[in-house]
Amino acid sequence: MNAPLRLDETFNEVDDRLVGLMEALFHPTGVAGVYGRRGAYEDVVERLAAFISGHREEDTEVMRFPPVMSRRTLERSGYLKSFPNLLGCMCALGGTERDIRSAVSRFETGGDWTEGLEAGDLVLTPAACYPVYPIAARRGALPAGGLRFDVASDCFRREPSPHADRFQSFRMREYVCIGSPADVAAFRERWIVKARGMAERLGLPYQVEVANDPFFGKVGLMMAEMQRHDALKFELVVPVRTPEKPTACMSFNNHKDHFGEVWGLRDATGGVAHTGCVAFGMDRLAVAMFAIHGTDTAGWPTAVRDALRF
Ligand code: AMP
Ligand code: ZN
Repeated sequence: MNAPLRLDETFNEVDDRLVGLMEALFHPTGVAGVYGRRGAYEDVVERLAAFISGHREEDTEVMRFPPVMSRRTLERSGYLKSFPNLLGCMCALGGTERDIRSAVSRFETGGDWTEGLEAGDLVLTPAACYPVYPIAARRGALPAGGLRFDVASDCFRREPSPHADRFQSFRMREYVCIGSPADVAAFRERWIVKARGMAERLGLPYQVEVANDPFFGKVGLMMAEMQRHDALKFELVVPVRTPEKPTACMSFNNHKDHFGEVWGLRDATGGVAHTGCVAFGMDRLAVAMFAIHGTDTAGWPTAVRDALRF
């Protein structure tokens, strides 16, 4: 396991080219990928959120989720098969008052208080759409045309990194479709087209590419290959750090019947439902905007400022 990256006082260890950008946008907190956000940055995140809301399709139900979710729900979703290395699990001091006191006194005498921790029933939400599927499943069979949701959550992935475009704690916004295979395929196609238009209005150079998730381990390599072969994931990438390794700011995912099987979701014809989502990495989009247009929003192109209603 890698030792956690530390960023104690400055961003100097972050990333040669983008240190200045990081200083302009964030406050270091002592941990790589976990940053305090400055006002101008947060203003852009809020404007981007409003911009994305402005593209919401009709009949889309809005839900917002907390940064933690049910461990059982995530286990059932299959997360431990795919990304066990990225998961954060909430833990807390348990046992009797005496147990808790002795953990605290270990700390006070320079020892390790964390030995007393017990895993709780919560995990840190790793993607905004996981909680929506069991909620939809409790409503019974889907209507013709399926259902659409607008979800968002603070997300956590344990991938400490020295790079300005990879966080451990970040915001994710998603539009989700649950329906027949045709509903989901059409949803994803529509969103790839819409997202291109959005990137253009934001003045972001981009490409849409076939992609894969970073599935864990050797078996994961095969899963990633299958995902690419079946074109189940596309990403809209922007040259934030380097043109050779552009940054995925949005993803377009077709999960096929995975969540339908797990949660017993049925489409209007009684078949196992398909699901798909388009995910917007809010922090990546905001970093991309500042990296491409500069740190002073007053100097951004007029069309871009108009799109964000400055
Ligand atoms: P994914 O579920 O991996 O497709 O992630 C959805 C979106 O969240 C991506 O397109 C990124 O924009 C964003 N994202 C994923 N991982 C990170 C990360 N470590 N830091 C910042 N944003 C991320
Ligand atoms: Zn999703």
